[in-house]
Amino acid sequence: MNMPALRKKAGTTVNANIAAKTRKKVNKKTPTKVAAIKSKNPTPARTSKSSKVKVANKLLASLSAAEFRRLLPHLEPIGLMFGDVLFEPGSAINYVYFPNDSLVSMLTVVDDRLALEVGLVGCEGMVGVAFSLGITTSPVRAVVQGAGTAMRMKAALFRKALNANGTLQKSVNLYIHAFMAQVSQTAACNRFHVVEARLARWLLMTRDRVDADHFELTHEFLGRMLGVRRVGVTKAANALKQQNLIEYSRGNIVIMNGRGLEAASCSCYKTLRDAQPF
Ligand SMILES: [Zn+2]
Repeated sequence: MNMPALRKKAGTTVNANIAAKTRKKVNKKTPTKVAAIKSKNPTPARTSKSSKVKVANKLLASLSAAEFRRLLPHLEPIGLMFGDVLFEPGSAINYVYFPNDSLVSMLTVVDDRLALEVGLVGCEGMVGVAFSLGITTSPVRAVVQGAGTAMRMKAALFRKALNANGTLQKSVNLYIHAFMAQVSQTAACNRFHVVEARLARWLLMTRDRVDADHFELTHEFLGRMLGVRRVGVTKAANALKQQNLIEYSRGNIVIMNGRGLEAASCSCYKTLRDAQPF
C-alpha cells in the first residue's frame, strides 16, 4: 500500500515513522527487530524477565499481575514498519497486537479504492478487537502509520485467555467501549468540525499515542487521514503555525504549545481523552 507520510527520523532504518523528539529524553532509535524495547512511558510498564522487554502498552499494564504473568509467555515482541498492513477488510485475524510506541490506523475502505481513517490505535489499546467479540475476520484495514514496537499474540491463545475469566476480558471490554466512542466521534467530527480543529485533534491524539511532540508527515498523508484535500491541510497547518501552536517545515511538525493546541482543537479531543479507560 502506498501511503507515504509519517517519516522516520534520519538515521533509522525504516522508511517512515512518527516521532523523533519526545517529551522526555529517550532513546530515539526505533528497533526494527525488537531485542529490547526502550519504553517512552516508564509507567505503566512491565518487564519480561525472560526477554527483558518493557511493555508500555497500557491495556496490558492494566491487567492484574497474575493475569499478565499468564499472558507473558504468549506475548511476542515485534517491530512494526511504516506501511505494514496488519489486516485487510475480510482478512483473517490470526494475531492481535498491543502497540508499545507504534501507531496503527484503522481505515474503512469504500468502493474498494477510497479509504478514510476511522480510528487510531497506539499504546492505549489493541488491534484486532473484533476477535474478542467472536469475529474472526477484520472489518477494517489496519495500517502501521508510525513504526515502532508492539506485542502480538496468536488469536487462538488470546481467545483462551479471554475465556479464563481473568482481568483480560474486563480490560478489553473497556477498550472496545473507548474505541467505539472514538469511531463514532470521528464520524461526527468529520461531518461537523472544521479542518483546522480536526487537524489539532489528530495531532494531539497522535502525540498521546506515541508520546512524542515531533512528527514527520506530509500534507498528502494528513489529507488522507482527515479526509480532505491537500490544500485544505496546508491552510489548516498554516493557521496553527501562525498561532505558534506548531512548527511546520518540510514535512516536520512539532507541537510547540500543547495547551494552545488543545484550545484550538474541537471538543472531540477532550471527549475522547476523557473516555480513555487506561
Ligand atoms: Zn471534532
